[in-house]
Amino acid sequence: MSAEPPEFRLGTVLATSFTGTLSERHGEPVERIPTPGRLVDWLAVNGLEVPSCSTAQLESARELREAIHAAATAAAVDASLPEAAIRVINECSIRGCASAVLTPAGQRHWSLSPHSPVEDALGVIASDAISIIGGGRDGRLALCASTTCRAAFFDTSRSRTRRWCEMNTCGNREKKARFNATHRSRPGTG
Ligand SMILES: [Zn+2]
Repeated sequence: MSAEPPEFRLGTVLATSFTGTLSERHGEPVERIPTPGRLVDWLAVNGLEVPSCSTAQLESARELREAIHAAATAAAVDASLPEAAIRVINECSIRGCASAVLTPAGQRHWSLSPHSPVEDALGVIASDAISIIGGGRDGRLALCASTTCRAAFFDTSRSRTRRWCEMNTCGNREKKARFNATHRSRPGTG
C-alpha cells in the first residue's frame, strides 16, 4: 500500500486539465489535488510556480474548478451557463494579475506577482476557461463519452469528433470494457 497521492492527468488545455483534477465525477470520484501541496505541484507542472498555498486558497481553487466544470459542461450541451459559475470564473479572472511574458526562447511564460501568486495563477486558469467557453479559440467543447467520467474537454481535432477526454484513460478503458463484454459469454473463463 502506498500513501502516494493520485497522479495528475495532464492535457494540453489548461482549463480542462484543471477540471480533470477531479476525475470520474459520475463514478467513484478521484480528487487529484487533495492537499494544498498537491495544488502547488499541479500549478508547477503547468508553468504556474507558486511558493506555497493555504487551505483557503485550495478551497478557492476547487471552487473555480467546479465553476469551470459547470460552465464548460453547459457550453458543451448548448445549455445556458449557470450564473454562479460565471461569477466565480469572472471574479478569479479579474482578481488575478499575472502577466504573459516572452522568454528568450520565444515561449510564453506567466509572471505571477510576489504578493498574490496563487490568485494570479487561478486568474490565468479562469482566463483560459473564458477563452474556450467564450468561443475565442479554435475548437469545440464536448463531454467525454465515458458514463462514469462525462468530463468536459476541448476538442481541437480537425473533424471535431473526439469522444474521450483522454485516449489513455477513458478511451482505453472503454475499449477494454467492450472487449470484455464480447468475451464474457465464453465458457471456461473466470
Ligand atoms: Zn473521460
